[in-house]
Amino acid sequence: MNEIGRSVQKAKISLLLKEAFFGNLLMHLEIKPDKNIPSFATNGKCIKYSPAYAQQLTRSETAGVLAHEVMHCVFKHHIERGGRDHKLWNDAGDYCINPILINSGLHLPGKPLLDSRFANMTTIQIYNILYAENPPSDGGNQDQSQDQSQDQSQDQSQDQSQDQSQDQSQDQSQENVPTSCGEVNDSPRLSKTDSQEACEQESNIWNQRIIQAAINAKMAGRLPASLDRLITGLLAPKVSWKEILWQFVQEIAQDDYSFIRPNRKYISEGVFLPSLYSESILDIVVAIDTSGSISQDNLNQAASEISEIQNSIDATVHVVYVDAEFKGAQEFNPGDEIKLEAKGGGGTDFIPAFEWVEKKQLDIACMIYLTDGYCSSFPEQEPEYPVLWITNRKHWKTPFGEIVNF
Ligand SMILES: [Zn+2]
Repeated sequence: MNEIGRSVQKAKISLLLKEAFFGNLLMHLEIKPDKNIPSFATNGKCIKYSPAYAQQLTRSETAGVLAHEVMHCVFKHHIERGGRDHKLWNDAGDYCINPILINSGLHLPGKPLLDSRFANMTTIQIYNILYAENPPSDGGNQDQSQDQSQDQSQDQSQDQSQDQSQDQSQDQSQENVPTSCGEVNDSPRLSKTDSQEACEQESNIWNQRIIQAAINAKMAGRLPASLDRLITGLLAPKVSWKEILWQFVQEIAQDDYSFIRPNRKYISEGVFLPSLYSESILDIVVAIDTSGSISQDNLNQAASEISEIQNSIDATVHVVYVDAEFKGAQEFNPGDEIKLEAKGGGGTDFIPAFEWVEKKQLDIACMIYLTDGYCSSFPEQEPEYPVLWITNRKHWKTPFGEIVNF
């Protein structure tokens, strides 16, 4: 092993001794040099480093970059990119993990991507913002070639990150180009044929590792409180779909902040929360895929949630039943009892629900789509309103909207 290799190993050992959580997880990743990459890169299996880049780093910076790569894996960035743009996905991932690393006392070289407006957002949420602000010229479907190193050597921003520590003044002239000390690439487990199952397997493997690393770090008294909370959240992503539905609808209502009504629960307790109530009424569409796999139990739960939503924001809820085609609709105004009468049963197509909204010329605040997720017929154009997919299919990907599991 040469000198650079030894200094990377020393950084790894220092992480093991001082930052047990990161150090433990690092033990699952083989570290090896690769002259063809600009900085560091992981795919959940190994960490490669550019000797030229690593040479410029202090030991604490190297430890920081190794921890950065570990965090990409903790957040499953190597599994969950889907068809998203590789560069923007990396940026979004960095915005997500860098604050955690800095808060844990680690040092990152250069100018790590940090932006307080992304605080507490998921990588996908950050990605969607970055994408909206600066859509990639190729439409965002840039796929990774097998030979990462070729892509990377052409990537201006990564070249720049390599130059950055050598020449800060040059960096100033290209301030809008983000830097990356450590990349994340897709897991080699993700084959095109079997990626759903491979995603779950890889995710489970990392969850086990994360649990073990957290236990070890806690025993060593080296698990920062912020990381402790984060890991609990990561390992229990079972935030109920109801909570996400609520958050989703409330965010929409807050966009038009006048829609929030005084909360009746609080009024009955004699507390009147200030509110900006408008006479306008929101239109919300709940589309239900009646092709078969949505159970009556799911429907009943959905009905009760819809009533609750109507009680807290003024909304007219249009329930649309769709299998392979439009099968019927019901309209519920504030105060109506919600009784879902599902119609349909064969095949699935998502397009009819969106067409229905268009045909009705409804200016809706959002669409909530309950589906088993076994269909890939989506509208070509992303609608202007937000969409929340509630599905029992794990690791499902849609071309737009947010996804939450039943
Ligand atoms: Zn990164």
